[in-house]
Amino acid sequence: MKIDTKDIDLPKFRALAGVSRSAHSWPEDYADENGKYLNQCVTCNEHFMGHRRRNVCKLCDAENQKWWDSLTDHEKREHIAEVAGEVRRIFGPNVEDQL
Ligand SMILES: [Zn+2]
Repeated sequence: MKIDTKDIDLPKFRALAGVSRSAHSWPEDYADENGKYLNQCVTCNEHFMGHRRRNVCKLCDAENQKWWDSLTDHEKREHIAEVAGEVRRIFGPNVEDQL
């Protein structure tokens, strides 16, 4: 297919190519049907490319995993209970029925 280069917005294409190569992006998602979405990380606000359901970039995910791995089993259980309590406060005590 011949591409008519006059119709290409070069700055936008360069920006998108930069995001796709960024360390924040998830290149392992690109082959998936919904793997090339432009998302914004909820932790650092950087744009990244990856599956449409991802909301955390690859760098922040790695930091989160490092933090999680540093916790003891007791600290992990405490954290899970804290998050579950927060979710129940927001969505109600029967939130599990909606999942
Ligand atoms: Zn991030």
